[in-house]
Amino acid sequence: MGTYRVAQVCPNGHVATSSADQYRELREEFCSKCGEATTTACPGCNASIRGYYYVEGVLSIGREYEPPAFCHACGKPFPWTERKVAAAVELVEVGGDLSSEEVAQFRSDLNEMTKDSPKTQIASLRFKKVMAKVGGGVASGVRDIVIDVLSETAKKAIWGA
Ligand SMILES: [Zn+2]
Ligand SMILES: [Zn+2]
Repeated sequence: MGTYRVAQVCPNGHVATSSADQYRELREEFCSKCGEATTTACPGCNASIRGYYYVEGVLSIGREYEPPAFCHACGKPFPWTERKVAAAVELVEVGGDLSSEEVAQFRSDLNEMTKDSPKTQIASLRFKKVMAKVGGGVASGVRDIVIDVLSETAKKAIWGA
């Protein structure tokens, strides 16, 4: 059995440290990548953001830490999850030639794809069709924005990885 360290993350999802409680010297009050104020707690319920999963006696050097998409305590999406979904929708809105209904569907599909739910597969299928329609430039931009907040199921369904 392990325990979670506390992560310190900015609203854009940049991780200052995944062990803020253990290594105070790694803390950043403001994000060194974007300058926004960082936090170690969920803005909705104040629970600590789960960081590095520490198991006594087990070395896991080199394992990438990604901040969680949702708060484990209250279930709300974290600011970076909402911002990335919003930014991807905006990119498709500006760069793609979609109707407002298609954009609305894309927004709801993308929200679904941040979770592991029964709807993730169908949302991923529609997502792929939208990506084919908007073309390579916009599609790769969307991928870069959302890849960190999509569920494993969605990532597998879309990119087979
Ligand atoms: Zn940042
Ligand atoms: Zn919360």
